[in-house]
Amino acid sequence: MSILSALVVSLHDVSPRTRLDCTAILAALKEAGVPACSLLVIPDHHRRGHLLDDADFCQWLRGLANEGHEVVIHGYHHWRERRPAERLLQKFLTRLYTADEGEFYDLSQAEAARLVSKAREEFRLLGLDPAGFIAPAWLLGAEAEAALCELGIQYTTRLATVSDFRAAPFQSQSLVWSVRSLWRRVVSLGWNLLLFRLLKTNALMRISIHPVDCRHPRVWRQIRGLTVRALTTRVPLTYLQWIGQRYAYSAKSD
Ligand SMILES: [Zn+2]
Repeated sequence: MSILSALVVSLHDVSPRTRLDCTAILAALKEAGVPACSLLVIPDHHRRGHLLDDADFCQWLRGLANEGHEVVIHGYHHWRERRPAERLLQKFLTRLYTADEGEFYDLSQAEAARLVSKAREEFRLLGLDPAGFIAPAWLLGAEAEAALCELGIQYTTRLATVSDFRAAPFQSQSLVWSVRSLWRRVVSLGWNLLLFRLLKTNALMRISIHPVDCRHPRVWRQIRGLTVRALTTRVPLTYLQWIGQRYAYSAKSD
């Protein structure tokens, strides 16, 4: 048994607020040859629209899960309140790097467990049972990670790793675009092309898309182009499928 090179495309920040862009992106990905993605869903995006209050959204999400897309819990509000007297590193990571979205960066274990349990129960009301949790901006603190393990969450990802909690983290830096300003877009285009080449021999390539990416033509053209190129040598999988395949492979090789 051999392990196939894989491409995981994930769509971040799926919520009632981003549904239109998400629909367009998923249609384009399907046409490009990606039938199923990992969908990182925010239960109550910036506290301005809980998914359970939007029946159309819930039906749409269930439909996507039935088509094979994977639903992943992506924070709860996707918003971090600023704390008084923050250190420089905290300020850099939570304000400049991510615009106050690092909700799980420095939560206590109890608070992280409360939010993840709440999200999980709400998804279950829709008949969905997410196996993974990915922190907003991939900023997951040690206490929040302990909460995930305590709750039996199967895996998480960070910018440079995929962690199935049954095994050591797997190194694979995700392609991801920052579109908040022109200079960020220019840097992103150069960096992602370089990263795509560097990942050639990695068993896993990750392409992480945000809804707003499709509104920037050069960025969106590059995302589609690199996706199509990756599919010439890789199979498209969700994170959960990839983890399952890798776990089965390593169990067989032991
Ligand atoms: Zn996010």
